Amino acid sequence: MGVVKRALYRMPEALGRLFPSVSGNTVNGLGEPRRRRPSPIFWHMNLEMPFARLQQALFERMDSDPRLKAVLRRGDRGPTKREPVAPVVVENTAQAWSAKVKEFARAHEADLVGIVRLDPLWVYDRYEATEPWLIVLGVAMDYDHLSTAPAIAAGIEVMEKYNRGTRAARKLANWIHAQGYHADAHGGPLAGPVSLVPAALAAGFGELGKHGSIINRELGSSFRLAAVRTDMPLVVDQPDMFGADDFCTSCQLCTNACPPQAIFEDKQVVRGDQKWYVDFDKCIGYFHETYGCAICIAVCPWSRPGVAKNLAQKMTRRAIRRNSGLMETSETAG
Ligand code: SF4
Ligand code: SF4
Repeated sequence: MGVVKRALYRMPEALGRLFPSVSGNTVNGLGEPRRRRPSPIFWHMNLEMPFARLQQALFERMDSDPRLKAVLRRGDRGPTKREPVAPVVVENTAQAWSAKVKEFARAHEADLVGIVRLDPLWVYDRYEATEPWLIVLGVAMDYDHLSTAPAIAAGIEVMEKYNRGTRAARKLANWIHAQGYHADAHGGPLAGPVSLVPAALAAGFGELGKHGSIINRELGSSFRLAAVRTDMPLVVDQPDMFGADDFCTSCQLCTNACPPQAIFEDKQVVRGDQKWYVDFDKCIGYFHETYGCAICIAVCPWSRPGVAKNLAQKMTRRAIRRNSGLMETSETAG
């Protein structure tokens, strides 16, 4: 894909008046050296949230478009009834439960499944989540629809995949209940108690890209997340590093394509971690006007069907060559 440099977006004044006095980057902890829990900023039904007025305006706009409204209000989000937890616990090893959870989830609409210990640092402040395990689910997006971003077809695709992720999570939670364990399902677009991006990174979904979304070794950034918190004994997965982070250091496709120029070229310190970061204040206006934008994940070369797998193999080979070169150099020097 060639370089797409879009004209700089200027936010309408009326939209700017819906912004709070505090910067979204301050809420997110940009520049903060200490680790802390994330603060609700958007996609939370929390009236004290600083961007609540902007969020409310987005909900009203989405409701006024019949195509989006159909997906949001009448989309199939799976079982609405939470089945009761069975009174007798089915005994099994953590290894066996993990295999069964993955098998069930993949048979019920999940394309990616990973398991992590729930880190309290992923839980939004003002929320509680005390279950020991988090099962993270990923559902693939249709690239033909995603690639129309920022057209509304891409926004509809995103919402449909949130519905699919929610269906998968709810079915899995009910299945876990039937085994005698507690489970809580969550699917977007509203956020749940847990920030899912760091959890999915820890669960082996891939690496954080410059555009602030995960790059997966098979789906690129063309997928959405859902999750189930549970006390069923499980075995954790490991992070998956295959060179996407390295690739981002020399790629500028998303930074050039982002109309409000919201994507930082360099990693930033955010709540104690150095990582790729998107300027919230710059992104959210355009995101609002386009019902979710998604240009950055659509132009990312990893998202194109069939590309990620080969690119991951190429980047892995490059890392091995580089490491063996370093070893030879250090052995020679020694
Ligand atoms: S979603 Fe935000 S960061 Fe991504 S291209 Fe759109 S405005 Fe830029
Ligand atoms: S478009 Fe390029 S820089 Fe941006 S996330 Fe994808 S690979 Fe990284």
